[in-house]
Amino acid sequence: MAISGSISEAEWLIPQPPHEMRPAADHPDPEYERRWKDRVWLRDEGKCSWCRKFEEYVETMEVHHLTYERFGNEQSEDGCLLCGECHAEVTQETRTRRRLSRKENIRNGD
Ligand SMILES: [Zn+2]
Repeated sequence: MAISGSISEAEWLIPQPPHEMRPAADHPDPEYERRWKDRVWLRDEGKCSWCRKFEEYVETMEVHHLTYERFGNEQSEDGCLLCGECHAEVTQETRTRRRLSRKENIRNGD
């Protein structure tokens, strides 16, 4: 899958509602999850999808969920590779937006 959008923008990395949050339950199949992460690592060739940093080992990179829609049965396009720093930043940004949209809903009496 071609990653679209400017790499200076985290926009496309933010999971969209209604599946923006990791489901509360643990991954139903850890072995499947491990293979899924390996597939994403291979597709992204060990490079961070945001800053393009290369890491030789699967363990030092993190697979970020772009969607949780198929949680438990993820396809390779459901995730992308991020380095630890970028993943932390994207997670932070996701939380901030969730907080803001909650405030927005309260203001609108939703
Ligand atoms: Zn990075």
